[in-house]
Amino acid sequence: MNLTVLGCLGAYPYDGQGTTSYLLQSNGFNLLLDAGSATLVELEKELDPLELDAVILTHYHHDHIADLGVLQYYWQLYPTKTPKPVLPIYGHTEDAFHFSDLTMEGVTEGHAYFEAEELKLGPFLVTFMKTIHPVPCFAMRFVEEATGSVFVFTGDSGYLEDFTEFAKGADLFLADTYLFNGNERHKAHFTAQEAGTLAKEAGVKKLVLTHLPQQGDLELLRQQAQAVSGKIPVELAEPHKKFVL
Ligand SMILES: [Zn+2]
Ligand SMILES: [Zn+2]
Repeated sequence: MNLTVLGCLGAYPYDGQGTTSYLLQSNGFNLLLDAGSATLVELEKELDPLELDAVILTHYHHDHIADLGVLQYYWQLYPTKTPKPVLPIYGHTEDAFHFSDLTMEGVTEGHAYFEAEELKLGPFLVTFMKTIHPVPCFAMRFVEEATGSVFVFTGDSGYLEDFTEFAKGADLFLADTYLFNGNERHKAHFTAQEAGTLAKEAGVKKLVLTHLPQQGDLELLRQQAQAVSGKIPVELAEPHKKFVL
């Protein structure tokens, strides 16, 4: 599978960069993972948004769904010769107001996922884990059925020991690292040290830091994670950076 970063800032766009959004691709299947600000303009550089097969959302904070409405308008209004299929958007149901927004009649359709149920989504099997966050948010573990490759995305989360099991052996661990060291056990996000520690304990093959802060030295953030991750390589996400798993 291929992961392409579209936006990787936390909370708000800054200096030409958008917030959380990734394109996950396997065997011709195009999955949009979260839809923060600037998703659509960055996605258009990778493919025609009409080529998406599905969208899946970790939670309904604005920095993860800001472009969802305009994606629906694109899907509704962009001229095309053939009728467009309805685009499935997967989300949790613990917030009825936002879940209902996933459906736009004849354009997009909301589909529920549940923590206790494995979801078959195109070429992926997806499992979920509720995170530490002020609103319900779910981490996701994607297994590519054809190859067994594993990609784990934390969504937004404060330190949660259960990630050592949830991310076990992942080929790529994409972790919310909005905080520099010194802010441990925060109620919403990992620090660099926490991301590095969880990566090491889970035995992942690569750690990628994302949901990055607007202020501060990102190379220092990376070094803080690398200092505790041992031999596991640590990289920073950046728009249009691609990872092959
Ligand atoms: Zn966020
Ligand atoms: Zn959030």
